[in-house]
Amino acid sequence: SVQEEGDHALKENKMKIEEVQSTTKKQRIATHTHIRGLGLQPDGNAIPLAAGFVGQAAAREAGGLVVDMIRQKKMAGRALLLAGPPGTGKTALALGIAQELGSKNLSEEERIDSRLGVSVVPFCPMVGSEVYSAEVKKTEVLMENFRRAIGLRIKENKEVTELSPEETESVTGGYGKSISHVIIGLKTVKGTKQLKLDPTIYDALIKEKVAVGDVIYIESNSGAVKRVGRSDAFATEFDLEAEEYVPLPKGEVHKKKEIVQDVTLHDLDAANARPQGGQDILSLMGQMMKPKKTEITDKLRQEINKVVNRYIDEGVAELVPGVLFIDEVHMLDMECFSYLNRAVESSISPIVIFATNRGICNVRGTDMTCPHGIPVDLLDRLVIIRTETYGPAEMIQILAIRAQVEELKIDEESLAYLGEIGQQTSLRHAVQLLSPGSVVAKMNGRDTICKVDLEEVNTLYLDAKSSAKLLQEQQDRYIS
Ligand code: ATP
Repeated sequence: SVQEEGDHALKENKMKIEEVQSTTKKQRIATHTHIRGLGLQPDGNAIPLAAGFVGQAAAREAGGLVVDMIRQKKMAGRALLLAGPPGTGKTALALGIAQELGSKNLSEEERIDSRLGVSVVPFCPMVGSEVYSAEVKKTEVLMENFRRAIGLRIKENKEVTELSPEETESVTGGYGKSISHVIIGLKTVKGTKQLKLDPTIYDALIKEKVAVGDVIYIESNSGAVKRVGRSDAFATEFDLEAEEYVPLPKGEVHKKKEIVQDVTLHDLDAANARPQGGQDILSLMGQMMKPKKTEITDKLRQEINKVVNRYIDEGVAELVPGVLFIDEVHMLDMECFSYLNRAVESSISPIVIFATNRGICNVRGTDMTCPHGIPVDLLDRLVIIRTETYGPAEMIQILAIRAQVEELKIDEESLAYLGEIGQQTSLRHAVQLLSPGSVVAKMNGRDTICKVDLEEVNTLYLDAKSSAKLLQEQQDRYIS
């Protein structure tokens, strides 16, 4: 069976690392791409607007202290709880903490990386209700997310050829990653060509493990690199809109370079459990029908842990605990809480950050009433940070930042109007009106979002509160 195959491969000590593709839940943090840290001064005070963060000073400063505690290993066995009304930036704060954790001892190049949105420590966001799935046990869901939040940095010494300085002069596109362990020079068949520096190429080149001497194909779009592949198959697959590049002559300089790959424990689980790459219809179907979750067993995880531990002992790999963010923690039940209680004590645990907007309520599935719906024994281990509602000025600043990262033009009056909408409804709702607003502006023949566009979309979409109110008023017209 697939499972046996996976186990067998591991016994042979051939853990699959090469093929690992990160399965981080990217889409969930898409709305927080502007957050790049906590924006604190060296003395720990919050800068009013920094690292994409606006206001919420006390919570950010408290977050900074937690980062210090984690670095001094004083958070072991404990977790963090962010308590505050909806739309007060709890997710943003958790992400900021993860990024601060990752910024420790970063080189300048890696700092550039993290600005590009490549998280240096893993950040795994989930919602409490996710544990209730028809196919998978609650603790299994928690376990998977735990492993998504634990990174492994694998170092490998590889001989690479670098171009000698003279040759480098004629290099027109040269890229390296994390950032400079592979330096390649590229020249088109038709002559030299300047490639636009596109951040996505870093990942593509790394994934392909491109080195000097390789022939690679680059699919480009008006000078910007879209995809990189090394095989003819790639070229055919993309209908050879791709241009062919031949590498520059091999350089004289041979160097041992450290190749670093960042994966999560879950990436390793998944890569080693997935059915082995048949391309025939049957095995493709098999991959579609069987969610890969069912193939990762405890046994496989234990095997992975063994290999990982050996790598760590041998100094080949380093553990990078990240952040597991569990929103709406009151959705968890007793079974989940006792699992979590044990899990945060384990020697390889990510930092667990809970979030809640509830006060005193029932612990789900019991008749126990506890603060935030969290049982007292877990509550005892928590460091609690409060988040506050935003005023209009702060909302407007946040909206302006979002408009900027989404590359939308919006005038002052519209921002103020959106700020008002945000105050009446929620920040999230206001942020979400930005992109439909820009679509309407385009339909009205404009580049810049104006107040009329927003008024139009505001009549089209209901925020959660108004929707609930409407339902209540028109209850008799709905099936209950
Ligand atoms: P919560 O988890 O408390 O509901 P959130 O972090 O999910 O909050 P939203 O209410 O969804 O935040 O916020 C909408 C948008 O505003 C998101 O893009 C979020 O990143 C951003 N945001 C929230 N607070 C801040 C802040 N203090 N500074 C900058 N951006 C923020």
